[in-house]
Amino acid sequence: MAFERVLGQEKAKQNLQRALEKDELAHAYLFEGAEGLGKKNMALDLASALLCERNKDKPCRICNSCLRISSGNHSGLKIIEEEKVIKVDEIRELIKDIQLKPYEGKKKVYIICDADKINMQGQNALLKTLEEPPQYATIILLTTKRNSLLSTIVSRCQTIRLNLVSLEIIKYYLVNEKKANEEEAQKIAAFSGGNVGKAVKLLEDVAFHERMENVIKICTDLMNVKLIKAIDKISFFEEEKSNIEEILDFMISWYRDLLVYKETENMDLIINIDKKEEIAFGARRIDINKIRDIIFIIQKSKNNLKSNVQFHLNIEVMLLNIQEVLTKW
Ligand SMILES: [Zn+2]
Repeated sequence: MAFERVLGQEKAKQNLQRALEKDELAHAYLFEGAEGLGKKNMALDLASALLCERNKDKPCRICNSCLRISSGNHSGLKIIEEEKVIKVDEIRELIKDIQLKPYEGKKKVYIICDADKINMQGQNALLKTLEEPPQYATIILLTTKRNSLLSTIVSRCQTIRLNLVSLEIIKYYLVNEKKANEEEAQKIAAFSGGNVGKAVKLLEDVAFHERMENVIKICTDLMNVKLIKAIDKISFFEEEKSNIEEILDFMISWYRDLLVYKETENMDLIINIDKKEEIAFGARRIDINKIRDIIFIIQKSKNNLKSNVQFHLNIEVMLLNIQEVLTKW
């Protein structure tokens, strides 16, 4: 089977594998899905399978062609990847290149990463080629934002959707491939929300645990309403401004754990598995409605991040509202 480097995504893999085996690949694909799900690896594996010198339907990974693809040095594979905009010139170059017959192997593969970055002129230029590429060519567009592509581009490609992966699969992967311990793997899998790339990033981020500890400390401190002024905690959020979404997610996970434990008394369902004692303790001190209100407040503040609400004001209001919930009878 090709695509063993891509975690989960069984439906997409089967679809492509079957097409490879029957030699029924589409001329153009659109791999669509969130950052971190493996779109690029999947495209590279498809390219390797198509260009492999030994196998017809999967990369052998040891032939000259497979090795050159993994070192990014195969004349039959072109990858377009830009930080900001993919300009029409780059698309014109692709169109010119695609007309030249392959001289290495029988196929040519083009991968355009973040195809939504192709400007309008470029998208229009690409249309005709997408409709009728030479039969030796396969074009693979990758995108997280299908809506930024012309509908005529989308309709000329076969769409392959990549979905979030189950937390069990991610946990298994972190433990077995990344040598994480069980507790850590479970927590990170839960935080990743089913996104493998995010899970690996969190695992490798040494500051992750420290941030997490700080957030939990703030959440537990806030319960001491008589001693702590919520507003004093604002400096932490200012310092962590660049990680604010993650920080608010941590907070939500903390209150979610309190809620889950309060309702079920089952520690198997919680995310912050290394904080069982603190959760049991916290859950005894706060009632369910208050927890729900607090989660709602944090969620609202998280939504505000995307609008024009001023950062400082947004966090300040959140902290004051949380404190208000905690102090009311
Ligand atoms: Zn090979």
